[in-house]
Amino acid sequence: MAEQEGITVKKENFSEWFSQVVQKANLADIRFGVQGFVVYPTWGFKIIRRIYEYLEEELEKDGHEPFWFPTIVKKSDLEKEKEHANFTPEVFWVTKAGDKNLDEEFALKPTGEAQIYPIYSLWIRSHQDLPFKAYQDRMFVYRNDKQTRPFLRGREFPFFESHDVFATHEEGLKQVKKDFEISTKVLYDKLKIPFVLFKRPQWDKFKGAVDTYTPDTVMPDGKRNQLASTHDLGQKFAKAYDIQFLDKNGEKQYVWQTCYGPGIIRIAAAIFGIHGDDNGLILPFDIAPLQIVIIPVLFSKKKTENDKVLKKCLDIKDKIEKLGYKVKVDDSDNNPGWKYHNWELHGVPLRLEIGPREVKAGKATLVERTERKKFEIKIKDLDKEIKKHAKSLDNEIKKKADDYFKNNTRVANSLKELKEMLKKHKGFVKIPFCSDDFDGEKCADKLKDETDGGNVCGVKAERPEKASGKCIMCGKKAKCIVYVAKSY
Ligand SMILES: [Zn+2]
Repeated sequence: MAEQEGITVKKENFSEWFSQVVQKANLADIRFGVQGFVVYPTWGFKIIRRIYEYLEEELEKDGHEPFWFPTIVKKSDLEKEKEHANFTPEVFWVTKAGDKNLDEEFALKPTGEAQIYPIYSLWIRSHQDLPFKAYQDRMFVYRNDKQTRPFLRGREFPFFESHDVFATHEEGLKQVKKDFEISTKVLYDKLKIPFVLFKRPQWDKFKGAVDTYTPDTVMPDGKRNQLASTHDLGQKFAKAYDIQFLDKNGEKQYVWQTCYGPGIIRIAAAIFGIHGDDNGLILPFDIAPLQIVIIPVLFSKKKTENDKVLKKCLDIKDKIEKLGYKVKVDDSDNNPGWKYHNWELHGVPLRLEIGPREVKAGKATLVERTERKKFEIKIKDLDKEIKKHAKSLDNEIKKKADDYFKNNTRVANSLKELKEMLKKHKGFVKIPFCSDDFDGEKCADKLKDETDGGNVCGVKAERPEKASGKCIMCGKKAKCIVYVAKSY
């Protein structure tokens, strides 16, 4: 039997809890041997793949088509982007093939703009080509991040990006709103991750964007987790890469662009970190790589009794499979207690326990992963019972996450209050602030120093709150309410 130990109490040391869950629940294997590069074993991979599927579904419903670009980007194309994005310090370069230096070096791409937009300038010719909405995903990008942590910061990470092109800025801004809706549908409705949608301050936006919008959540250690970003690119890249179209009057015009980038592994980190408990992962029913596990309780001394139980378990598995769920019988040699613990650690939503008593009565014991409540169900009602308990499990996950998040925003009206709150309180703190335009940058820098790493996340993107009073840093009249949190 494999060894089994408990995990750290989440509330006491979240960072340690997270590391242990990542390893013990087979989410990532960090023994690859190159910093920032991890292996995603089956369990972690299947969860990541499900996140991709949700996003693909929503983007395609919104009229996006998929495409695939190479892993590399040409040096000359990357340089055109320099003044806008400037990823250069973080770029990995390919300089040699065999023992010969390459004529033109190329980079492992840090993000898609510099490789996609030169091709857009060839593809987009007339107003009839617009709007053009496309995405690529299920590939890696590369950045030489100094600090790395599985699912939060890596040097190679799974990527998703949509790149949209429009004839007018209005259409671009409408797409920004559409991206918000996609974030809500996937992150909140499906994955039950609550977030605040921010407009980033000008000094902290993507350099190549007019404005950057991000759904941010807070992890249980109080740190901000940016789940995605939407950029209104205006015409900046259109001008850098010469993407023009002939309008209806036959005149050449630069296009307007937006892009959307959900952070796949950070979304996964939020699912693990926010929903999980002291027994391990908790996964919403639809995302779980295995939704129902059946545990045969084989305590009888008679082999025939045990065989009957096992046969019943396999029959039930077939039935459940036909209903379209992901199910397995754990008939390994481990004892039932070990199995319960193991599948709870992996976050399997529903468990069925079946022993001789249950076989005789045509019943099973069903356990929901969330509160580990037990229910006696009739085998003939399987279909109905699974639907009912999957729903109640999802509701419980959502309610718990909502409650956790609701209490996570405080208000501070002075630097002293903010400092104290950021020390004890794990979450966002709202403050009156002079400006989210470039004028506010000095105050934000000072705030970061004084609060030991507090970041101005931005103002609410939709229905920004009205400010009153004074900026807690400079004392000037406050123009906005900004949210502050520490970040990874
Ligand atoms: Zn100020």
